[in-house]
Amino acid sequence: MKNETAPLGPKKVTGVPVARPQRSASVQTYIPEVVKGLGITMKHFFQNTKEMAFGQRNDPVLEGIEDGINTVSYPEQKRPYPARSRGVHRLTQREDGSPRCVACLCCSTACPAQCIHIEAGEYPVGDPRRGYERFPQRFVIDELRCIFCGFCVEACPCDAIRMDTGVHAAPYDSREQFIFEKDVLMGFPGRDGSHLTANPRHEPGEGSHPGLDREKH
Ligand code: SF4
Ligand code: SF4
Repeated sequence: MKNETAPLGPKKVTGVPVARPQRSASVQTYIPEVVKGLGITMKHFFQNTKEMAFGQRNDPVLEGIEDGINTVSYPEQKRPYPARSRGVHRLTQREDGSPRCVACLCCSTACPAQCIHIEAGEYPVGDPRRGYERFPQRFVIDELRCIFCGFCVEACPCDAIRMDTGVHAAPYDSREQFIFEKDVLMGFPGRDGSHLTANPRHEPGEGSHPGLDREKH
């Protein structure tokens, strides 16, 4: 086996030297291109300003995007969400302002992301609802974990949880702010501005409540 060592000193390089391209002073300084770019920016700026001042700006949502500059000035201008869009959750209320939720855990069981946490409580002795239903002492949704599948809404037998708020979660800057507790969830109205739902509810103690009918017969 040959024991060869590389020679010391600079390596010999072979190749063909390439001549530096000759560029003019205007190209080397970039100034004409910078001026050209600023000119385009200013042209759009004045065009947008004129259209906004004279109300000529077309609505990129309602009037299409064929003409002019089409940007949505959020949050002043918002794209309308489709009617079936799933916004952040809300807990619907009864006439007296209490949650419709009966803490049955159907929604948290159906939730594939396991982001609903419910702690059920019993109504006090003497309350007609005691023995028929419970209430959520704690109802928490982690909106960051939620995949907005809507299964919880489908699973609920009481129309107590909905995703018809029409709003998406705000861009908070910490994970804790996406943990929506019961009071936050009950604070969101539906798109119609109401905290109630159109579905009727038969309260325990009322003649129409099926639980009482079953006892009578
Ligand atoms: S929308 Fe889906 S993921 Fe989100 S809380 Fe409901 S069931 Fe869970
Ligand atoms: S929101 Fe509906 S499904 Fe979930 S615990 Fe309450 S009543 Fe049950």
